[in-house]
Amino acid sequence: MLEASDKTAERLRDNWQSVTGEIFEACHAAGREAGEVQIVGVSKYVGPELAWQLGQAGCEILAENRPQLLWDKAEYFAQQAVEMDSPLASDTHSGREGTSIPQWHLIGHLQRNKLRRTLPLISLLHSLDSPRLAEAISADGESQNTKHCVLLEVNVTQDASKTGMAIEAVRRLLDRADELPGLEIRGLMAMSSLQASPEGARREFEQVRELRDQLQREYAGHVNLPELSMGMSGDFREAIAAGATLVRIGTKLWQGIL
Ligand SMILES: *Cc1c(COP(=O)(O)O)cnc(C)c1O
Repeated sequence: MLEASDKTAERLRDNWQSVTGEIFEACHAAGREAGEVQIVGVSKYVGPELAWQLGQAGCEILAENRPQLLWDKAEYFAQQAVEMDSPLASDTHSGREGTSIPQWHLIGHLQRNKLRRTLPLISLLHSLDSPRLAEAISADGESQNTKHCVLLEVNVTQDASKTGMAIEAVRRLLDRADELPGLEIRGLMAMSSLQASPEGARREFEQVRELRDQLQREYAGHVNLPELSMGMSGDFREAIAAGATLVRIGTKLWQGIL
């Protein structure tokens, strides 16, 4: 794997420019405002130094799919922050451009024995995938006097090879949302099927959006579901056309580096 250098920093600034440009165009094509879609930079392919450089290039939200790798990078970021005496992510108003510390999201499975250490490091969990995990996260939130923000990972195509909850399981969880005070359910996360064509991916993403709209009506007053995390390097255009608010981009940001 390539080492971080001035060259990689420059390449990442270019990549960031071109990805934000493409997202902007996808929003325009879908008749949406660019500000409605946030880019989550997926850093699982690289080490902490390169992830840090992506943050310096302008990416404000980074994500990992494994808790352990997130811990390592978050620790490195905290050290960098101390060295730079730079504002922390929670302190967004004092940041000179390019020097604020990105937030972390977790986009892969969170084991219950890892949540204590992971939750303080992240601002959003995209991949809540079971009622037991929901209970454990809510209990942690209650004990800390806070609410942990999560998305429910849903498998709308009932594809056995895909992760995520079936629609009935999502409903059963939302039925109990009032009993989970340490949890703030913010929306849904989904992946398209591996073998899906662009049209197929778009249909799947539209199913997710329709499900969200329907759940929002059914559970109005109990939960707010503004966020839709869908779309990766290969299908973000289809996801944005279908209403994504968070796109999880990995490969495309690391072009020329991996
Ligand atoms: C790796 C990963 C991504 C990014 O995928 P790319 O195709 O590299 O953009 C998005 N979401 C999840 C859950 C991932 O694990």
